[in-house]
Amino acid sequence: MPGIVTVVDHPLVQHKLSLMRRSDTSTSKFRDLMREISLLLGYEATRDLALEETLIETPLEPARVPLLAGKKLCLVSILRAGNGILDGMLDLVPAARVGHIGIYREPSTLQAVEYYLKLPDDLSERDVILLDPMLATGNSAVAAISRLVELRARSIRFVCLVAAPEGIENLHRVFPEVAILTAAIDRGLNDHGYILPGLGDAGDRLFGTK
Ligand code: URA
Repeated sequence: MPGIVTVVDHPLVQHKLSLMRRSDTSTSKFRDLMREISLLLGYEATRDLALEETLIETPLEPARVPLLAGKKLCLVSILRAGNGILDGMLDLVPAARVGHIGIYREPSTLQAVEYYLKLPDDLSERDVILLDPMLATGNSAVAAISRLVELRARSIRFVCLVAAPEGIENLHRVFPEVAILTAAIDRGLNDHGYILPGLGDAGDRLFGTK
């Protein structure tokens, strides 16, 4: 069963991503763009949130109106670059719970190594949106999703800015039920596991560490 991949082709998303790709985009501009684009991706990623009819008073009369049903969302950031997406998503759904999974890529093998984990303890009642700007080899995403599955998250979807075909294939080979939402699917990976053309190291660009 092939998994679902949605490419958000909205012109604002595409424009902002192109600006992020430019090597002369400053750290602060990159961070601003990441926040803005994440808000737009979040809009798409939350499109099917459940609503419930609720009785309210308008200034003129009572009305039955749709409101979000419960606060059952959990945003999970894969550290550290996932935090860039987190900010924009929280602008959109400030009541969401937040979890963090620290994973680094072992440079020689590109294997994912977990070094930090902090999640709400009621994950089985929550729909998780997992955040990482770059879906490269897919190893970090697979490791994070494995952890979320182990902790019985009610549902999981993955949001990124740029995906490589290799990462999509790897993620969906292991977890075909996890929908992927991305702003772009790029050409592929270089020998160091970086996405081409990509936007470089998202964490370094976000935090100005290189
Ligand atoms: N992580 C990044 O930050 N960039 C890539 O291109 C691949 C993984």
